[in-house]
Amino acid sequence: MAERLLISALKGGKDTKSIILNRKKMKKIPSALEKLPGLKNLDLQNNLILSVCPEISTLTQLTALNLGNNLIEEVPEEMKHLISLKKLHLFGNRICRFAPGACDGLQNLILLNLNNNELTQLPQEVSRLKSLTYLSINYNRLASIPIELCFLEDLSELQLNYNQLICIPEEIKFLKKLKTLFLVRNNIEVLPEGLCDLKKLRMLDIAGNIIQIFPPRFQNLKLREFYCEGNPLFLKQPVIAVQQEDVWSLKEIASRFVMNQLEEKNPFLMHAIEQYPQVRNIISQGKKCVICGKSFFTMWLECVQFVPPSKNWLVSRNLELVPLRTLICSYKCFNRRGHNIFGIAEV
Ligand SMILES: [Zn+2]
Repeated sequence: MAERLLISALKGGKDTKSIILNRKKMKKIPSALEKLPGLKNLDLQNNLILSVCPEISTLTQLTALNLGNNLIEEVPEEMKHLISLKKLHLFGNRICRFAPGACDGLQNLILLNLNNNELTQLPQEVSRLKSLTYLSINYNRLASIPIELCFLEDLSELQLNYNQLICIPEEIKFLKKLKTLFLVRNNIEVLPEGLCDLKKLRMLDIAGNIIQIFPPRFQNLKLREFYCEGNPLFLKQPVIAVQQEDVWSLKEIASRFVMNQLEEKNPFLMHAIEQYPQVRNIISQGKKCVICGKSFFTMWLECVQFVPPSKNWLVSRNLELVPLRTLICSYKCFNRRGHNIFGIAEV
């Protein structure tokens, strides 16, 4: 039947640029497609197609392919021959894997829609989709995303709603052109600090996760819209800290001494440190106390600071103050009066 439908679609002659065969109960892609090497648009959504035919490889001028709402289980290897493809719709299938090499030839792909499938992971090879600008993988079962995804330089919109993600890689900071990030309904507890480096990010939706606190510098993002309903955000309630003495390791005491002396430009240490690149490397990982400004190394108090969302952000109604993760050097600083920083109680 598929062949007959195609033949009637071919009445336009050999130069046919577009074929649309929706809701025809087709079980396979008609192999006669190979007679149409000039085809630009092929729309076969809402059929019963299980897999693509090898003849599809001849469609090297195809720019748009819609196989949405079929029964496909794998992003097929044949895709690699579609070197002109710009838009690929595979939503509403049963896709749980990419065939090896499927991404190899899709150098011009701009849009990939994999919504409503059964993917639990993405292959590292997604990094070969060099032109990818819009990627949508809502309603799948992703538990993680590969770091390689963060090397797609042109990616502007990333939709990962309704998955099972527990974290986002720090490398997300490399998505310099990312404007829109949807992470609704996942299991994310911590957002990476690298998120705060996304200067182009304008739209962030993290509703329905398990986030309590945001990374430092979060309020510097130039967002236009920010939604965070359904997260157990810290509320502004002072937590009484146990008035205990700080007990630091010898390494911590030595590191703090060296770091702070170097900041004061102690000439003896400035000279000595040149001889010890490992020490220099270690102390470069030091952090600064937001209260006293002094450096510390691996021991700190984890606190929360509440800041109003940036005025330019359009925010969820529940969000009056943004809880930011804040580190301070000691109980001595914590117990000082006049700061706006709260301890995080261990529950
Ligand atoms: Zn301090």
